[in-house]
Amino acid sequence: MKVVGIPRALLFYHYYPLWRDYFAGLGVKVVESKPTNRVILLAGLGTAVDETCLPVKVFYGHVQELKDRVDYLFVPRLVSVEKGAYICPKLLGLPDMVRHSLSNLPPLISPTINFNRRGQGLYKAILETATLLGVNPVQALYAFVRARARWRRWQALQHGGLSPMEAWAVLEGKGGGLPERKGKGLRVGVLGHPYNIYDPYINMGLLDRLREMGVSPQTAEMLPADIIAFHAGRLPKRLFWTLGQYVMGAAGHFMQGGNVDGIIHLISFGCGPDSLVGELVERRARRKGFPFLLLTLDEHSGETGLLTRLEAFVDTLQWRRGKE
Ligand code: SF4
Repeated sequence: MKVVGIPRALLFYHYYPLWRDYFAGLGVKVVESKPTNRVILLAGLGTAVDETCLPVKVFYGHVQELKDRVDYLFVPRLVSVEKGAYICPKLLGLPDMVRHSLSNLPPLISPTINFNRRGQGLYKAILETATLLGVNPVQALYAFVRARARWRRWQALQHGGLSPMEAWAVLEGKGGGLPERKGKGLRVGVLGHPYNIYDPYINMGLLDRLREMGVSPQTAEMLPADIIAFHAGRLPKRLFWTLGQYVMGAAGHFMQGGNVDGIIHLISFGCGPDSLVGELVERRARRKGFPFLLLTLDEHSGETGLLTRLEAFVDTLQWRRGKE
């Protein structure tokens, strides 16, 4: 049986069940890389160009963790996943960057997905992948429709407050739902790209640390899509980046009756879109006097520094609560 590897990085945290179930429906074995660890991070840092952002460096590490145990690697070329908006240019060029920086790779499966160009949509990608793996197109379409249905169930589970991997465990019948919430009853909106928020190695366990402090984290993925779209649509000018729209939409909701005590925004050092979106969110929070903490992640981020800032922020939120 052919084995397809999916790196546990970047938009894995947004699309995993869709990709996994689609390939499984094509009759291939699917293998993911291990959760990010020090070896994976160092492998990525040692091979990616210095100028790129931390999430892309981590992606390189995951590719290396997988490459010798699979027949193919899935590295899609994501240009646009909705009309009128785009994904970051680094994701657009990801297959080329990986191919040119890493050696001894198995063949890459890299369909182009571009909703803004006729003939480069989802169905072409589905059929292109199936042809490469020698699977009949009808079986491929059927596999995709089933995978998409499960992906939507996974998203609905996240709307109930689960992280992507918690939702996956529930979907697979291996998890019991929401972890126990204890303590202060505070709620914090956590903004950022899913690969920053949900990779506990690169964010040093942010979500678990908040939960341990008795704070319930709320993320964009936990909000219904129409709420995100409504608040993102209230900007004077529409953002070009789909992921930026998620952040701005969630930020708008959190700051306008979203029932959170404060906002933490996780951004990556070296990320162009984050530098703009981070500034917009921070200015808006300051204007409204909304408690806001910006955390910038890079390979040098230290655990002690993060914890100190987090504790100070949560103490401030607690103090404000006490005054109300
Ligand atoms: S959006 Fe930013 S963090 Fe994400 S891949 Fe692009 S540059 Fe990197």
